[in-house]
Amino acid sequence: MLFLIDVTVALNRVRPLKQPLTILLASPRGFCAGVDRAIQIVERALEKWNPPVYVRHEIVHNKHVVQQLKEKGAVFVEELNECPDDRPVIFSAHGVPKSVFSEANRRNMIFVDATCPLVVKVHVEAKRLFQSGKEVLLIGHANHPEVVGTLGQLPDGAISLIETVKDAELYQPANPTNLAIVTQTTLSVDDTSQMIKILKQRFPAITLPHKEDICYATTNRQAAVKAIAGRTDLFLVLGTETSSNSLRLAEVARKAGASRAKLIDDVSHIDWSVFSQVKTLGLTAGASAPESLLQEVITDCRNRFSVHLEEIDGSEENMTFKLPHFLNTVVS
Ligand code: SF4
Repeated sequence: MLFLIDVTVALNRVRPLKQPLTILLASPRGFCAGVDRAIQIVERALEKWNPPVYVRHEIVHNKHVVQQLKEKGAVFVEELNECPDDRPVIFSAHGVPKSVFSEANRRNMIFVDATCPLVVKVHVEAKRLFQSGKEVLLIGHANHPEVVGTLGQLPDGAISLIETVKDAELYQPANPTNLAIVTQTTLSVDDTSQMIKILKQRFPAITLPHKEDICYATTNRQAAVKAIAGRTDLFLVLGTETSSNSLRLAEVARKAGASRAKLIDDVSHIDWSVFSQVKTLGLTAGASAPESLLQEVITDCRNRFSVHLEEIDGSEENMTFKLPHFLNTVVS
């Protein structure tokens, strides 16, 4: 008996107790309906036409998703002139300017539009406002593909871009009583409402979006982060740095009280040395980041720490978007 106790004591000396770590898991998180649809479109297209299938721009902004599709035979390009005429091409979830459709039609290419229906809604709204004679403002980030796509729905110069609060304060319209706003779908909810508030104060007759243009997935993921960020010492957001909605989640976590927040592509990018200061870790994934990457982080945490996991439920999501009919019917 005495011997057994001695062995236990000796083992505990060799293997110190693991540091406790509470993980607060945001929900909802990860793939949205638009991302899910876009990835399925590429997969179905590969089954229908066999590789290679070309994809104009990253189908969604996540390097793991892009790599997996490359391995299945997708070829990613930035412009249509990099695609041969005789292979199918898919347009990414972010949307494309009208000129891209015109060019694909001119070359008689087979193409599939994977633009998220919620981005298409913004395109339709911008065109409707323009046709009704409004001066259209787009709140968004210059050069983001979604913004390039929305600007490209109308003639050059027809839409003015508002990127910052300063832009909203300084904008000089041709006619202050004839303005209308649309927005990018993946912005910070709070920053956007601040810009809209300033524009509304300056131009009371401005037409606001019928319904919020920032999509349900962006809104819900930001709200879920906000609800827990103040309790965390570190917030990790799974996502690639080109992903607007993932970047916004890290910003929202910081603003909502997380001591630190970081965007990481996967578990290999975690700096474990900072964890000596971390008692509570917040965790989420952007709308284009696979859940498997987040689960790998949890598994690694369990190997290193004594983990207590709490999933904090936010808004329930049950949105799905249909695939284009002709792709729906190709797989038996
Ligand atoms: Fe569509 Fe929103 Fe997802 Fe973008 S983040 S693909 S707009 S649902």
